[in-house]
Amino acid sequence: MSYLTLRGINKIYPNGFHAVHDFNLEIEKGEFIVFVGSSGCGKSTTLRMIAGLENISKGDFFIDGVRANEKGPRERGVAMVFQSYALYPHMSVYDNLAFGLMLQGVDEDVIEKKVLNTAKILGLTDYLDRKPRALSGGQRQRVAVGRAIIRKVNIFLMDEPLSNLDAKQRVTMRSEITQIHRETGATTIYVTHDQTEAMTMADRIVVMKEGYIQQVGTPHDLYFNPSNMFVAGFIGEPPMNFIAGRLQGGKINVGATQLDLGMVADKNVLDKYEGSEIAFGFRPEAIKLVGKEDVQNAYRLTGEVELTELLGDNTNVYMDIQDVKSILKVDPHDTPEMDSKLEFAIPYESVYLFDKQTEKRIKLRETSK
Ligand code: ADP
Repeated sequence: MSYLTLRGINKIYPNGFHAVHDFNLEIEKGEFIVFVGSSGCGKSTTLRMIAGLENISKGDFFIDGVRANEKGPRERGVAMVFQSYALYPHMSVYDNLAFGLMLQGVDEDVIEKKVLNTAKILGLTDYLDRKPRALSGGQRQRVAVGRAIIRKVNIFLMDEPLSNLDAKQRVTMRSEITQIHRETGATTIYVTHDQTEAMTMADRIVVMKEGYIQQVGTPHDLYFNPSNMFVAGFIGEPPMNFIAGRLQGGKINVGATQLDLGMVADKNVLDKYEGSEIAFGFRPEAIKLVGKEDVQNAYRLTGEVELTELLGDNTNVYMDIQDVKSILKVDPHDTPEMDSKLEFAIPYESVYLFDKQTEKRIKLRETSK
Protein backbone atom coordinates (compact mmCIF):
# COMPACT_ATOMS: atom_id res chain seq x y z
CA MET A 1 0.00 0.00 0.00
CA SER A 2 1.21 3.52 -0.75
CA TYR A 3 1.73 6.23 1.84
CA LEU A 4 -1.74 7.68 1.26
CA THR A 5 -4.53 5.56 -0.13
CA LEU A 6 -7.95 6.84 -1.12
CA ARG A 7 -10.21 3.93 -1.93
CA GLY A 8 -13.68 4.45 -3.34
CA ILE A 9 -14.06 7.79 -1.59
CA ASN A 10 -17.44 9.52 -1.94
CA LYS A 11 -18.86 12.68 -0.49
CA ILE A 12 -22.57 13.22 -0.18
CA TYR A 13 -23.36 16.47 1.61
CA PRO A 14 -26.24 16.55 4.14
CA ASN A 15 -28.44 18.25 1.52
CA GLY A 16 -28.04 15.15 -0.65
CA PHE A 17 -25.56 16.65 -3.11
CA HIS A 18 -23.10 14.03 -4.32
CA ALA A 19 -19.90 16.10 -4.67
CA VAL A 20 -17.24 13.37 -5.05
CA HIS A 21 -17.77 10.01 -6.75
CA ASP A 22 -15.67 6.90 -6.25
CA PHE A 23 -12.32 8.66 -5.90
CA ASN A 24 -9.39 6.22 -6.05
CA LEU A 25 -5.79 7.30 -5.68
CA GLU A 26 -2.49 6.02 -4.32
CA ILE A 27 0.02 8.69 -3.28
CA GLU A 28 3.66 7.88 -2.60
CA LYS A 29 5.63 9.44 0.23
CA GLY A 30 7.10 12.80 -0.79
CA GLU A 31 4.99 13.20 -3.92
CA PHE A 32 3.62 16.58 -4.98
CA ILE A 33 0.07 15.90 -6.17
CA VAL A 34 -2.13 18.56 -7.73
CA PHE A 35 -5.93 18.29 -7.93
CA VAL A 36 -7.05 20.44 -10.83
CA GLY A 37 -10.42 21.18 -12.43
CA SER A 38 -12.99 23.91 -12.85
CA SER A 39 -14.64 25.51 -9.87
CA GLY A 40 -17.11 23.19 -8.16
CA CYS A 41 -15.65 19.90 -9.42
CA GLY A 42 -14.96 18.59 -5.91
CA LYS A 43 -11.27 19.39 -5.38
CA SER A 44 -11.65 21.17 -2.03
CA THR A 45 -14.16 18.65 -0.79
CA THR A 46 -11.67 15.84 -1.45
CA LEU A 47 -8.84 17.78 0.17
CA ARG A 48 -10.97 18.54 3.22
CA MET A 49 -11.83 14.85 3.58
CA ILE A 50 -8.10 14.09 3.55
CA ALA A 51 -7.53 16.82 6.14
CA GLY A 52 -10.26 15.47 8.40
CA LEU A 53 -12.31 18.66 8.13
CA GLU A 54 -15.12 16.93 6.29
CA ASN A 55 -16.31 13.40 6.96
CA ILE A 56 -16.02 10.71 4.29
CA SER A 57 -19.49 9.50 3.28
CA LYS A 58 -18.29 6.25 1.76
CA GLY A 59 -14.92 4.64 1.09
CA ASP A 60 -11.66 4.25 2.98
CA PHE A 61 -8.74 6.55 3.58
CA PHE A 62 -5.43 5.17 4.80
CA ILE A 63 -2.32 6.98 6.04
CA ASP A 64 0.73 4.77 6.00
CA GLY A 65 -1.41 1.66 5.89
CA VAL A 66 -3.62 2.66 8.81
CA ARG A 67 -7.29 3.50 8.25
CA ALA A 68 -7.74 7.16 9.10
CA ASN A 69 -11.41 7.87 8.29
CA GLU A 70 -12.30 8.51 11.91
CA LYS A 71 -9.12 10.33 12.91
CA GLY A 72 -9.27 14.04 13.70
CA PRO A 73 -7.20 16.60 11.80
CA ARG A 74 -4.50 16.74 14.49
CA GLU A 75 -4.05 12.97 14.65
CA ARG A 76 -3.52 12.82 10.91
CA GLY A 77 -0.35 14.88 11.03
CA VAL A 78 -1.45 17.31 8.33
CA ALA A 79 -0.92 21.03 7.93
CA MET A 80 -3.17 23.04 5.68
CA VAL A 81 -2.80 26.35 3.86
CA PHE A 82 -5.96 28.03 2.64
CA GLN A 83 -6.73 30.61 0.00
CA SER A 84 -7.51 33.17 2.70
CA TYR A 85 -4.32 33.39 4.70
CA ALA A 86 -6.14 33.08 8.03
CA LEU A 87 -3.37 34.87 9.93
CA TYR A 88 -3.92 36.32 13.38
CA PRO A 89 -4.23 40.05 12.61
CA HIS A 90 -3.18 41.27 16.06
CA MET A 91 -0.03 39.15 16.16
CA SER A 92 3.36 39.88 14.61
CA VAL A 93 4.77 37.64 11.91
CA TYR A 94 7.01 36.07 14.56
CA ASP A 95 4.05 35.23 16.77
CA ASN A 96 1.97 34.00 13.86
CA LEU A 97 4.75 31.57 13.04
CA ALA A 98 5.38 30.62 16.67
CA PHE A 99 1.78 30.25 17.82
CA GLY A 100 1.19 26.61 16.85
CA LEU A 101 4.41 25.53 18.54
CA MET A 102 3.58 27.55 21.64
CA LEU A 103 0.26 25.73 21.92
CA GLN A 104 2.13 22.44 21.70
CA GLY A 105 4.30 23.55 24.63
CA VAL A 106 7.54 23.55 22.68
CA ASP A 107 10.50 25.21 24.48
CA GLU A 108 10.95 28.88 23.72
CA ASP A 109 14.51 28.60 22.46
CA VAL A 110 13.49 25.77 20.15
CA ILE A 111 10.62 27.90 18.90
CA GLU A 112 12.94 30.81 18.25
CA LYS A 113 15.31 28.65 16.26
CA LYS A 114 12.48 27.24 14.18
CA VAL A 115 10.88 30.62 13.57
CA LEU A 116 14.15 32.15 12.44
CA ASN A 117 14.90 29.21 10.20
CA THR A 118 11.42 29.22 8.63
CA ALA A 119 11.60 32.99 8.14
CA LYS A 120 14.91 32.55 6.38
CA ILE A 121 13.56 29.90 4.00
CA LEU A 122 10.64 32.19 3.14
CA GLY A 123 12.49 35.49 2.98
CA LEU A 124 10.58 36.89 5.97
CA THR A 125 13.50 37.65 8.26
CA ASP A 126 13.11 41.41 7.90
CA TYR A 127 9.38 41.32 8.61
CA LEU A 128 9.19 39.36 11.84
CA ASP A 129 8.00 42.36 13.87
CA ARG A 130 5.32 43.42 11.45
CA LYS A 131 1.62 42.77 11.74
CA PRO A 132 -0.10 41.07 8.78
CA ARG A 133 -1.83 44.30 7.67
CA ALA A 134 1.61 45.81 6.99
CA LEU A 135 2.54 43.02 4.57
CA SER A 136 1.90 42.55 0.86
CA GLY A 137 -0.35 39.71 -0.28
CA GLY A 138 2.67 37.63 -1.24
CA GLN A 139 4.31 38.14 2.14
CA ARG A 140 1.10 37.22 3.95
CA GLN A 141 0.83 34.06 1.94
CA ARG A 142 4.43 33.26 2.85
CA VAL A 143 3.59 33.59 6.52
CA ALA A 144 0.64 31.24 6.00
CA VAL A 145 2.93 28.72 4.29
CA GLY A 146 5.52 29.24 7.03
CA ARG A 147 2.96 28.50 9.70
CA ALA A 148 2.23 25.20 8.04
CA ILE A 149 5.83 24.11 7.43
CA ILE A 150 7.14 25.13 10.85
CA ARG A 151 5.35 22.19 12.39
CA LYS A 152 7.18 19.17 11.09
CA VAL A 153 4.21 17.45 9.49
CA ASN A 154 4.35 14.66 6.98
CA ILE A 155 1.42 15.82 4.90
CA PHE A 156 1.02 19.27 3.55
CA LEU A 157 -2.36 20.31 2.09
CA MET A 158 -2.87 23.52 0.13
CA ASP A 159 -6.17 24.85 -1.16
CA GLU A 160 -5.72 27.48 -3.90
CA PRO A 161 -3.00 29.19 -1.85
CA LEU A 162 -2.02 31.60 -4.62
CA SER A 163 -5.39 32.81 -5.86
CA ASN A 164 -5.31 36.08 -3.91
CA LEU A 165 -1.95 37.09 -5.37
CA ASP A 166 -1.27 39.10 -8.50
CA ALA A 167 0.14 37.35 -11.57
CA LYS A 168 3.76 38.16 -10.83
CA GLN A 169 3.60 37.11 -7.19
CA ARG A 170 1.93 33.88 -8.23
CA VAL A 171 4.84 32.97 -10.48
CA THR A 172 7.34 33.70 -7.69
CA MET A 173 5.41 31.80 -5.03
CA ARG A 174 4.94 28.88 -7.40
CA SER A 175 8.66 28.25 -7.58
CA GLU A 176 9.07 28.97 -3.87
CA ILE A 177 6.50 26.36 -2.93
CA THR A 178 8.19 23.85 -5.24
CA GLN A 179 11.50 24.69 -3.57
CA ILE A 180 10.04 24.30 -0.07
CA HIS A 181 8.63 20.96 -1.11
CA ARG A 182 12.08 19.86 -2.20
CA GLU A 183 13.57 20.96 1.09
CA THR A 184 10.92 19.52 3.42
CA GLY A 185 10.11 16.41 1.39
CA ALA A 186 6.56 16.49 2.82
CA THR A 187 3.91 14.69 0.84
CA THR A 188 1.91 17.54 -0.65
CA ILE A 189 -1.57 17.79 -2.10
CA TYR A 190 -2.28 21.07 -3.79
CA VAL A 191 -5.66 22.22 -5.12
CA THR A 192 -5.96 24.69 -7.99
CA HIS A 193 -8.19 25.54 -10.95
CA ASP A 194 -5.13 26.81 -12.82
CA GLN A 195 -3.65 24.34 -15.28
CA THR A 196 -0.36 26.25 -15.42
CA GLU A 197 0.14 25.80 -11.67
CA ALA A 198 -0.70 22.14 -12.04
CA MET A 199 1.68 21.63 -14.96
CA THR A 200 4.60 23.50 -13.40
CA MET A 201 4.39 22.19 -9.83
CA ALA A 202 3.06 18.65 -9.87
CA ASP A 203 4.78 15.31 -9.87
CA ARG A 204 1.37 13.95 -10.77
CA ILE A 205 -1.88 15.72 -11.60
CA VAL A 206 -5.41 14.53 -10.87
CA VAL A 207 -7.85 16.13 -13.32
CA MET A 208 -11.41 16.27 -11.97
CA LYS A 209 -14.75 17.14 -13.51
CA GLU A 210 -18.14 17.17 -11.78
CA GLY A 211 -16.94 15.03 -8.89
CA TYR A 212 -15.22 12.39 -11.02
CA ILE A 213 -11.53 11.82 -11.68
CA GLN A 214 -10.89 12.18 -15.41
CA GLN A 215 -7.24 11.19 -15.47
CA VAL A 216 -4.24 10.84 -13.20
CA GLY A 217 -0.76 11.28 -14.61
CA THR A 218 2.44 13.26 -14.85
CA PRO A 219 2.22 16.66 -16.57
CA HIS A 220 3.93 15.05 -19.57
CA ASP A 221 1.35 12.21 -19.68
CA LEU A 222 -1.60 14.54 -19.53
CA TYR A 223 -0.27 16.85 -22.21
CA PHE A 224 0.80 14.16 -24.67
CA ASN A 225 -1.62 11.38 -23.79
CA PRO A 226 -4.90 12.90 -22.64
CA SER A 227 -7.46 10.16 -22.17
CA ASN A 228 -10.46 12.23 -23.19
CA MET A 229 -11.58 15.55 -24.68
CA PHE A 230 -11.98 17.19 -21.28
CA VAL A 231 -8.37 16.57 -20.27
CA ALA A 232 -7.14 17.48 -23.76
CA GLY A 233 -9.04 20.77 -23.55
CA PHE A 234 -8.13 21.53 -19.94
CA ILE A 235 -4.38 20.95 -20.07
CA GLY A 236 -2.55 23.32 -22.40
CA GLU A 237 -3.05 27.00 -23.05
CA PRO A 238 -4.71 27.92 -25.37
CA PRO A 239 -6.61 24.63 -25.27
CA MET A 240 -6.47 21.90 -27.89
CA ASN A 241 -8.53 22.64 -31.02
CA PHE A 242 -11.26 20.20 -32.01
CA ILE A 243 -12.79 19.80 -35.43
CA ALA A 244 -15.91 17.67 -35.23
CA GLY A 245 -17.16 15.68 -38.16
CA ARG A 246 -18.86 12.48 -39.31
CA LEU A 247 -16.41 9.87 -40.52
CA GLN A 248 -17.24 8.94 -44.11
CA GLY A 249 -15.00 6.69 -46.13
CA GLY A 250 -12.31 7.25 -43.50
CA LYS A 251 -12.48 11.02 -44.04
CA ILE A 252 -14.00 14.02 -42.33
CA ASN A 253 -14.89 17.33 -43.94
CA VAL A 254 -13.82 20.76 -42.80
CA GLY A 255 -15.96 22.92 -45.05
CA ALA A 256 -14.92 21.86 -48.53
CA THR A 257 -11.61 20.37 -47.37
CA GLN A 258 -11.37 16.65 -46.69
CA LEU A 259 -9.05 15.22 -44.07
CA ASP A 260 -8.12 11.63 -44.89
CA LEU A 261 -7.68 10.05 -41.49
CA GLY A 262 -6.07 7.01 -43.08
CA MET A 263 -2.88 9.06 -42.86
CA VAL A 264 -2.88 8.91 -39.06
CA ALA A 265 -4.94 5.87 -38.07
CA ASP A 266 -5.13 2.20 -39.02
CA LYS A 267 -7.93 1.19 -41.36
CA ASN A 268 -9.53 -1.25 -38.93
CA VAL A 269 -9.62 1.52 -36.29
CA LEU A 270 -11.39 3.86 -38.72
CA ASP A 271 -13.75 1.10 -39.86
CA LYS A 272 -15.06 0.87 -36.31
CA TYR A 273 -16.01 4.55 -36.32
CA GLU A 274 -17.28 4.75 -39.92
CA GLY A 275 -20.47 6.83 -39.91
CA SER A 276 -19.90 8.11 -36.35
CA GLU A 277 -19.17 11.61 -35.12
CA ILE A 278 -15.56 12.03 -34.17
CA ALA A 279 -13.39 14.97 -33.12
CA PHE A 280 -10.09 15.74 -34.74
CA GLY A 281 -7.80 17.40 -32.18
CA PHE A 282 -4.62 19.40 -32.58
CA ARG A 283 -2.75 21.71 -30.27
CA PRO A 284 -2.37 25.41 -31.20
CA GLU A 285 1.41 25.09 -30.86
CA ALA A 286 1.68 21.99 -33.06
CA ILE A 287 0.95 23.75 -36.35
CA LYS A 288 3.39 24.93 -38.99
CA LEU A 289 2.97 27.81 -41.37
CA VAL A 290 2.91 26.87 -45.04
CA GLY A 291 5.58 28.74 -46.94
CA LYS A 292 7.76 29.06 -43.87
CA GLU A 293 8.42 25.56 -42.64
CA ASP A 294 8.67 22.08 -44.00
CA VAL A 295 5.12 20.80 -44.14
CA GLN A 296 5.62 17.24 -45.33
CA ASN A 297 3.45 14.59 -43.67
CA ALA A 298 0.87 17.08 -42.54
CA TYR A 299 -2.72 18.09 -43.21
CA ARG A 300 -3.10 21.48 -44.81
CA LEU A 301 -5.89 23.87 -43.95
CA THR A 302 -6.65 27.45 -44.95
CA GLY A 303 -8.69 29.90 -42.92
CA GLU A 304 -9.36 33.54 -42.26
CA VAL A 305 -7.53 35.36 -39.50
CA GLU A 306 -10.23 36.81 -37.23
CA LEU A 307 -8.05 38.17 -34.46
CA THR A 308 -4.44 38.12 -33.33
CA GLU A 309 -3.10 38.47 -29.79
CA LEU A 310 0.56 39.31 -29.50
CA LEU A 311 1.71 37.91 -26.16
CA GLY A 312 5.42 38.59 -26.49
CA ASP A 313 6.90 35.12 -26.81
CA ASN A 314 4.14 34.05 -29.21
CA THR A 315 1.02 35.25 -30.96
CA ASN A 316 -2.36 33.55 -30.64
CA VAL A 317 -4.14 33.61 -33.98
CA TYR A 318 -7.92 33.11 -33.91
CA MET A 319 -8.96 31.43 -37.14
CA ASP A 320 -12.17 30.75 -38.96
CA ILE A 321 -11.65 27.69 -41.12
CA GLN A 322 -14.85 27.52 -43.14
CA ASP A 323 -16.93 28.12 -40.01
CA VAL A 324 -14.76 25.97 -37.78
CA LYS A 325 -13.05 28.07 -35.09
CA SER A 326 -9.48 27.31 -34.10
CA ILE A 327 -6.61 29.00 -32.31
CA LEU A 328 -3.05 28.76 -33.62
CA LYS A 329 0.11 29.70 -31.78
CA VAL A 330 2.76 31.26 -33.99
CA ASP A 331 6.08 33.02 -33.63
CA PRO A 332 5.40 36.73 -32.97
CA HIS A 333 7.45 37.61 -36.06
CA ASP A 334 4.98 35.62 -38.15
CA THR A 335 1.90 37.43 -36.81
CA PRO A 336 -0.51 37.55 -39.75
CA GLU A 337 -2.70 40.52 -40.74
CA MET A 338 -6.25 40.50 -39.46
CA ASP A 339 -8.77 39.36 -42.10
CA SER A 340 -5.98 37.82 -44.19
CA LYS A 341 -5.98 34.23 -45.38
CA LEU A 342 -3.55 31.90 -43.66
CA GLU A 343 -2.50 28.45 -44.77
CA PHE A 344 -1.16 26.15 -42.11
CA ALA A 345 -0.25 22.53 -41.66
CA ILE A 346 -0.95 20.04 -38.91
CA PRO A 347 1.75 17.36 -38.77
CA TYR A 348 0.24 13.86 -38.78
CA GLU A 349 2.16 13.02 -35.63
CA SER A 350 0.36 15.81 -33.74
CA VAL A 351 -3.16 14.65 -34.48
CA TYR A 352 -5.51 13.24 -31.82
CA LEU A 353 -8.86 11.63 -32.53
CA PHE A 354 -11.74 11.35 -30.08
CA ASP A 355 -15.06 9.54 -30.10
CA LYS A 356 -17.46 12.48 -30.05
CA GLN A 357 -20.13 10.53 -28.20
CA THR A 358 -18.07 9.19 -25.29
CA GLU A 359 -15.42 11.96 -25.61
CA LYS A 360 -12.79 9.24 -25.14
CA ARG A 361 -9.55 9.28 -27.06
CA ILE A 362 -9.35 6.87 -29.99
CA LYS A 363 -6.23 4.74 -30.17
CA LEU A 364 -4.90 5.36 -33.67
CA ARG A 365 -2.88 2.22 -34.14
CA GLU A 366 -3.92 -1.28 -33.31
CA THR A 367 -0.63 -2.77 -32.26
CA SER A 368 -0.35 -6.28 -33.69
CA LYS A 369 0.26 -8.99 -31.19
P1 ADP B 1 -13.95 22.93 -5.95
O1 ADP B 1 -13.00 22.93 -4.81
O2 ADP B 1 -13.54 22.00 -7.04
O3 ADP B 1 -14.25 24.30 -6.47
P2 ADP B 1 -15.85 22.02 -3.95
O4 ADP B 1 -15.24 20.77 -3.48
O5 ADP B 1 -15.70 23.22 -3.10
O6 ADP B 1 -15.35 22.34 -5.44
O7 ADP B 1 -17.39 21.78 -4.19
C1 ADP B 1 -17.87 20.71 -4.96
C2 ADP B 1 -19.37 20.79 -5.06
O8 ADP B 1 -19.94 20.55 -3.77
C3 ADP B 1 -19.88 22.15 -5.51
O9 ADP B 1 -20.98 21.94 -6.38
C4 ADP B 1 -20.33 22.80 -4.22
O10 ADP B 1 -21.37 23.71 -4.44
C5 ADP B 1 -20.80 21.62 -3.41
N1 ADP B 1 -20.66 21.86 -1.96
C6 ADP B 1 -19.58 22.29 -1.29
N2 ADP B 1 -19.81 22.37 0.03
C7 ADP B 1 -21.08 21.98 0.21
C8 ADP B 1 -21.93 21.85 1.36
N3 ADP B 1 -21.49 22.12 2.60
N4 ADP B 1 -23.20 21.41 1.16
C9 ADP B 1 -23.64 21.11 -0.09
N5 ADP B 1 -22.90 21.21 -1.21
C10 ADP B 1 -21.64 21.64 -1.07
